[in-house]
This record gives sequence, C-alpha cells and structure tokens, in this order.
Amino acid sequence: MKVLKDKILIEGKVLSDTVLKVDSFLNHQIDPAFAMDLGKEVAARFKNQSITKILTVEASGIAVAMATGLALDIPVVFAKKKRAATADPNVFSSTVYSFTKDESVDIYVNSRFLHPSDNVLLVDDFLAQGEALRGMVEIVQQSGASLAGAGIIIEKVFQGGGKALRDAGIRIETLAPIASLAGGKITFC
Ligand code: 5GP
Repeated sequence: MKVLKDKILIEGKVLSDTVLKVDSFLNHQIDPAFAMDLGKEVAARFKNQSITKILTVEASGIAVAMATGLALDIPVVFAKKKRAATADPNVFSSTVYSFTKDESVDIYVNSRFLHPSDNVLLVDDFLAQGEALRGMVEIVQQSGASLAGAGIIIEKVFQGGGKALRDAGIRIETLAPIASLAGGKITFC
C-alpha cells in the first residue's frame, strides 16, 4: 500500500535494527482518517470470505481492527492482557512473549465473544516474531471458531514470524512488508 509506505518513510523512526516507531499515526497518536483507509484495505483483501468477527490484542491493534470491523460491518474483539496466568473457565487464553518489552503476558478473551460458528480475521499493527498472532490463533482454536487469516499493517519480514505462520497454513496479508531496518534505513520488500 503505497500511501502507507510513504507515511512510514516520512514519519517512521528506526529505533534499532529490529524496532520501528510509528507512534505519530498508528500506535500512540492515531490518524483516524488514515486508520480508516488501512482498515478498508485490510477488509478489501478479505472480502467475500464470510468473516464474522475481528480479533486483535490490546492496545495498539485496536484502532486498525476497529477500522477493519467497520468496513466489514462486523464486531471487533480485543484480547486483554494480564500478567498473572488465569484459570478462569470462562476465558480462552494464551501466553505471548513480547520481544519489544522482553516479557511474557497472558492474553485472554471471554468465551461469550467467540463461538464455533464464527469465522475470525486476526488484525494487528505489527508482525515481527509472530508471537501475538500465534497467541490469537491459539485462542481461536480454543473457541472452535474458524480462522480466515490475518491482516497486518506492518510486517518486519526479516524477523521470520510471518514465514512460520504461513508455513503453518495461515493466510497473512500485509500492507507494508519491511525487508530490513539495518543501519537505520527502512527497506521495503
Ligand atoms: P510479534 O509478536 O510478532 O513478535 O510482535 C508483534 C507485536 O509486538 C505487535 O502487536 C506490536 O505491538 C509489537 N511490535 C513488534 N515489533 C514492533 C515494532 O517494531 N514497533 C512497534 N511499535 N511495535 C512492535
């Protein structure tokens, strides 16, 4: 998506060889009109897939997930984060390691919001090592719902998470795939 790549080049800040900051429009301050355009693009890539629900993880996935849900006219569920493991029988849960924060968190979704009849599209702002997506896949599996795939705004392809999940048979659509951040330079695939 050219307009997204251009915005990343103008506003993105490379913090290290593995971390890109896009907090001026995506995950701290949000550009609402632009987020809507991102959601429409993700929705367009999965149209006619009979998706019934969007699933993301709080907090930074919520804006684009909501935009996608609005475009598809379906509900958006966000997995909540909790530090202590939860044994609540009413939740689907998974443990996810965040390399940006160097910590593991439990994510969970109340079982009222995902059903075996659902066809779920996962949405997130970034795909790096694939932990967040893997955790969401586990939650979908626990619910008995079907998985339509994942729509990602920025994939850092060099971190390998996308390849592993695609190899496992999951359809992943990425709006801005990045091949490298080495030396502070953003190189798209
Ligand atoms: P993964 O679980 O695929 O390793 O990482 C994805 C999650 O980590 C995303 O939900 C995102 O919040 C965060 N993340 C990963 N890489 C970056 C990055 O370069 N910049 C920012 N701002 N967040 C990232």
